Amino acid sequence: MDLQTAEHRAAELRNLLNQYGYEYYVLDKPSVPDSEYDRYMQELLELEAKFPQLNRADSPTQRVGGNILDLFEKVEHTAPMLSLGNAFNEQDLKDFDRRVRQAVGEEVTYVCELKIDGLAVSLRYEEGLFIQGATRGDGTIGEDITANLKTIKSIPLRLRENVSIEVRGEAYMPKSSFHALNKVKEERGEDLAANPRNAAAGSLRQLDPKIAASRNLDVFLYGIGAASKIEATSHSEGLNFLDRLGFKTNKERQKCGTIDEVIEYVNGWVDRRPHLPYEIDGIVIKVDSYKQQSELGTTAKSPRWAIAFKFPAEEVVTTLLGIELSVGRTGVITPTAILKPVKVAGSTVQRASLHNEDLIREKDIKLGDQVVIKKAGDIIPEVVNVLADQRTGEEVDFVMPSHCPECENELVRFEGEVALRCINPKCPAQIREGLIHFVSRTAMNIDGMGEKVISQLFAENLISDVADIYKLTGDQLLALERMGEKSVSNLLKAIEASKSNSLEKLLFGLGIRHVGAKAAKTLAQSFDTMDNLASATKEELLAINEIGEKMADAIVTFFEQEEAVELLEELSSAGVNMEYKGAKPVSAEESDSVFAGKTVVLTGKLEQLSRNEAKEKIEALGGNVSGSVSKKTHLVIAGVEAGSKLKKAQELGIEVWDEEKLLVEFNK
Ligand code: NAD
Repeated sequence: MDLQTAEHRAAELRNLLNQYGYEYYVLDKPSVPDSEYDRYMQELLELEAKFPQLNRADSPTQRVGGNILDLFEKVEHTAPMLSLGNAFNEQDLKDFDRRVRQAVGEEVTYVCELKIDGLAVSLRYEEGLFIQGATRGDGTIGEDITANLKTIKSIPLRLRENVSIEVRGEAYMPKSSFHALNKVKEERGEDLAANPRNAAAGSLRQLDPKIAASRNLDVFLYGIGAASKIEATSHSEGLNFLDRLGFKTNKERQKCGTIDEVIEYVNGWVDRRPHLPYEIDGIVIKVDSYKQQSELGTTAKSPRWAIAFKFPAEEVVTTLLGIELSVGRTGVITPTAILKPVKVAGSTVQRASLHNEDLIREKDIKLGDQVVIKKAGDIIPEVVNVLADQRTGEEVDFVMPSHCPECENELVRFEGEVALRCINPKCPAQIREGLIHFVSRTAMNIDGMGEKVISQLFAENLISDVADIYKLTGDQLLALERMGEKSVSNLLKAIEASKSNSLEKLLFGLGIRHVGAKAAKTLAQSFDTMDNLASATKEELLAINEIGEKMADAIVTFFEQEEAVELLEELSSAGVNMEYKGAKPVSAEESDSVFAGKTVVLTGKLEQLSRNEAKEKIEALGGNVSGSVSKKTHLVIAGVEAGSKLKKAQELGIEVWDEEKLLVEFNK
């Protein structure tokens, strides 16, 4: 790249970064994901490193934060509140370690801390009394938000010792407060808050402290700006000193002697992060010794003795290349976004479900758009929104077809439903999907017979309904692509084994409308045999607690079909079991166990029982096992490494047992 092109690009990047920075720091309303901002920032840093003549004092690479609002009194910080340099991978951490050791020698200890995703605040105490709290602002001057900070209950108004001190930390919105805020916003028809970080910043920059008070914010303190006395020679001792004064510090911090230990700590948090009750966006690594910190010093923007490791981006931008349609087992047409491959939270994503046509309209998604992708619940990729201002004019509207992409039957939309459906019962896509469902793990669990094998068998006309699976021969299977003797023999064994499954697996596998795995179990427990269920009346079905009108109708309709009756006869004569084999539930009144009528939550790892075994046993004793802890929970069984659920139970004062106690109770 020549100087002129670089100059042009640098100006473009400065403009973009200034705009995004303004939206993020001043308006608390970012329009692009952080990864997009970080990517442009890295590009500008690289350009400025390559062409030092492009360096300018007002470049976003040289500045901390954004402008400050005139709404608040200005506060000059005693020592600047800086930003942090970034590391995005192990190599960046190793480079940081090398720079540190070159400057201060080999004897270095690091302190690793969670990088809380909130906003930096400074708190001033005089003679132990809280007198002023401020935002970081542009690093030199911040905004006086004392009244709002006083609403945070974990900020002490008086310290345990009469010291004068300025401490720094991160004010943040716990995930629970964030969800509660968005629930209220949704009910009121207001725009939802984008993320806990901006919601926290927005809450603290309100003129009315009642608003901040209603947002249930919290704080972690992580450093000392200045103090009349500091009884510490290192950062870790400084944090202990803060604890002693009555401040809330984060307890997950850890001292590390080598950069490999640091990397281990960082990697450990990549997986554990979703379980925290607050958001973190990385790990901050600091040189422990204050003496070494001052030897290393700071740049205009950040200290040389600390670095922030940023977790792989959870939200990234990519191009929507196309929209593919698929037909599900119930005929629902699902549009899927085909994306230019992109890394999100550590893995490459190239497809994301768009759910239905309404969602495409609502999000105003056009083919060719730049879209923001994230992994919902950290697993399933999802299109968050479209960057409409990045459109070139080449993007085209997506038109949903009027006919099934597989069988060409006309599609219909039932009243009150958002989905478009193919209602042709002979639609090959639906039949194929139904077969895939039948062999799946929660249904008949035929190992080795996944989507690919079913699709081949179906395409070769070797199976057209689920009963055909039990007629397959070894020779037929051997003729399939990539099928050797061994896998055929294993597959035949798996088919044979599935014949003895308990009734609920077959019931679920049949794909009766509205009958999910849980309902299938209830039905099997209540009716014992397929014959009993087939002859049940709607009233008999409705008499069961968990069965509603819709499901009862669907079950009766299913067993009225001649095809269904024939199919079940075929399955039965192939030797497929039609009876329930599991434990019978005991009603709360009948049971004299301590679990009767109680809601129990299992959390952590059990060592002597599987979760499922424990669940079945508790249910058999008349208890109810639920997945989340709430005020309605009676008892929590906490295994090894129990985390947030255990914490919540303790907060709510719910009885907690360990596995040992559970086993004693089971054996009574
Ligand atoms: P930073 O967030 O990368 O790091 C510095 C901050 O980390 C500190 O000021 C402090 O508030 C915080 N922090 C949290 N825990 C800490 C701990 N234990 N010890 C020390 N500090 C801790 O830097 P920044 O300058 O605040 O902001 C840059 C970030 O903001 C980037 O992640 C960037 O992506 C994002 N940003 C996004 C947009 C956007 O448009 N999406 C715009 C501007 C900035």
